[in-house]
Amino acid sequence: SRPAVAWIGLGIMGSPMSENLIKAGYEVTGFTLEQEKLDRLAAAGGTAAGSVAEAVRNADVIITMVPASPHVEAVAYGPDGILENARPGALLIDMSSITPQTSIDLAVAAGDKGIRVLDAPVSGGEAGAIEAVLSIMVGGEQADFDAAKPVFEALGRTVVLCGPHGSGQTVKAANQLIVAVNIQACAEAVVFLEKSGVDLRAALDVLGGGLAGSTVLTRKKDNFLNRDFKPGFRIDLHHKDMGIVTDAARAVGASLPVGAVVAQLVASLRAQGDGGLDHSALLRAVERLSGA
Ligand code: NAD
Repeated sequence: SRPAVAWIGLGIMGSPMSENLIKAGYEVTGFTLEQEKLDRLAAAGGTAAGSVAEAVRNADVIITMVPASPHVEAVAYGPDGILENARPGALLIDMSSITPQTSIDLAVAAGDKGIRVLDAPVSGGEAGAIEAVLSIMVGGEQADFDAAKPVFEALGRTVVLCGPHGSGQTVKAANQLIVAVNIQACAEAVVFLEKSGVDLRAALDVLGGGLAGSTVLTRKKDNFLNRDFKPGFRIDLHHKDMGIVTDAARAVGASLPVGAVVAQLVASLRAQGDGGLDHSALLRAVERLSGA
């Protein structure tokens, strides 16, 4: 029979991902901070728990999908946390995007309790979560990766073990660098095209078919065309990720000059109160620079 799954963090990503596990036949017990998301889980056939401890007590597999490193630490550690309340032998899969060092430290602390850990951050956005076509970048041990494979395959399409603990997070940090720079390039092109008086929809359609085409351009086209910045992926989260990649790159002596500029623009949006908008709102930052 399928392993019993506990799911901690039912946000923009965690809700549809956990529902895909339910659809695949898993029993999912969840906990998150918003009551409405717990109600949604129950309506989808899962079980709503009243705490992290209650959610993980009987689980074979525990999945966390929370915003950042401090949230992972909050749900993992302490008397009410996962490590104190999960069964020895359980597999903890953290799918949040956090610092590689936090993942490494978690694997060590969990190992002391007989709990195995994988870092398994994802790319593909809310649409990828809903459609179960995420890219899942995994760090940890081969045997644990093999055990988790059926779960990953219910959530994503491209699933790769990248190396030891923390490696998934390092690859995800690179992913976020590429996505931010790509959005920035698209945003600059949009402002340039509009100021030039070219039909933007026609321009983006033809650009999408050439070497300038990208998942970002395809997925964010309507956001750009309609100035629709409802998240999606919040600027606040991308700000967090630019910090992760900046620190990790500095630690290994990798220079990220363009990434540094884009990180500043993301920070600027946040400082202007736009942290809750989708990251396609980088268009706003470029428009402000151009007086558009
Ligand atoms: P979100 O803010 O929508 O959801 C986070 C959830 O975590 C919330 O439901 C919140 O209740 C829960 N949470 C926070 N602290 C908790 C605690 N102490 N106990 C229980 N639950 C807690 O965020 P999201 O957009 O779903 O992103 C989650 C993670 O996935 C982030 O690390 C993000 O960077 C990453 N990610 C997001 C996207 C995206 O497009 N949104 C894509 C890929 C990766």
